[in-house]
Amino acid sequence: QSKEQGRNRYAFYTDALNQSISRRLQIEGYLRGAIERGELMLHYQPQYDVSSQRVTGVEALLRWNSPELGQVGPDEFIPIAEQSGLILPIGRFVLQTALAAAKRWIELDPDFKLAVNISPAQFRDESLVSFLQEELAKHQYPASRLELEITEGILMRGGTQVEETLAALHEMGVCLSMDDFGTGYSSLSYLRKYPVDELKIDRSFVNEMTVDESDRELVNAAISLSRGLGLRVVAEGVETAEQLQALKELECGVVQGFWLSEPVPQEHIGKMLERQARLPV
Ligand code: C2E
Ligand code: MG
Ligand code: MG
Ligand code: MG
Repeated sequence: QSKEQGRNRYAFYTDALNQSISRRLQIEGYLRGAIERGELMLHYQPQYDVSSQRVTGVEALLRWNSPELGQVGPDEFIPIAEQSGLILPIGRFVLQTALAAAKRWIELDPDFKLAVNISPAQFRDESLVSFLQEELAKHQYPASRLELEITEGILMRGGTQVEETLAALHEMGVCLSMDDFGTGYSSLSYLRKYPVDELKIDRSFVNEMTVDESDRELVNAAISLSRGLGLRVVAEGVETAEQLQALKELECGVVQGFWLSEPVPQEHIGKMLERQARLPV
């Protein structure tokens, strides 16, 4: 009887494993060619200055509508793209598309900032810098209005390629933001070593900050740290009025989250900025 049970359990695990492997393979298979078939698009989530309530910029976020699989979230397909090498053409598509869109937005607001997520494999790719130089020139987009969001892991692992890329980006004037700040590593020494411009406080801290005193303290510490180092600070994942109020009290600079706006299609951003351009400063 127990043997029978063991077999069942084994069958259960292999079933679950097979299912997750076949989902991965499906995603990888359908993702190949998704750009050419026009299935990938970008949405943009506005970021707001806390004191003036104005839109200061946007974060570009990938959306994939697959005819075979339906909507697949980037949390699911980006890691697969990362491991299969597909992230390189996808990442180039993202930069091209976002720069073409943002070119119009800086005409409405010269201080506007475009943030783009860059995953580790993209950052290790030695053609990233030259590709960026070409695209910035092609769209006549100022490097200082572009911000690359990377995670702490990239800087912690370091390496010659990463250091060269960081130096070249810094030289070009491209900004660097630490995404999901606080979730990665306990060492902060990379902040001294590398030219970081912004900390993006992970939404897990923001989420609990109005109910959990230690989360509030961690948000507070990240804001003070940014202030002390002269960095920009963004709180992500703001979902309630209470969280926004708490962030105001802590004098957080910039906020982003569903409470203010979800990620929206390109056209919405243009309209938002046009409306804002007509308002008195
Ligand atoms: P991320 O860079 O940390 O992006 C923030 C994520 O939080 C986005 O999820 C966004 O939709 C979501 N979010 C924003 N406000 C709220 C909120 O108030 N509450 C909650 N619960 N969530 C909120 P999304 O679009 O599903 O993206 C997930 C992750 O996928 C991103 O995390 C990023 O790591 C990656 N990703 C997305 N687009 C790209 C891309 O173009 N390139 C690369 N390499 N990675 C991307
Ligand atoms: Mg991000
Ligand atoms: Mg994040
Ligand atoms: Mg994330």
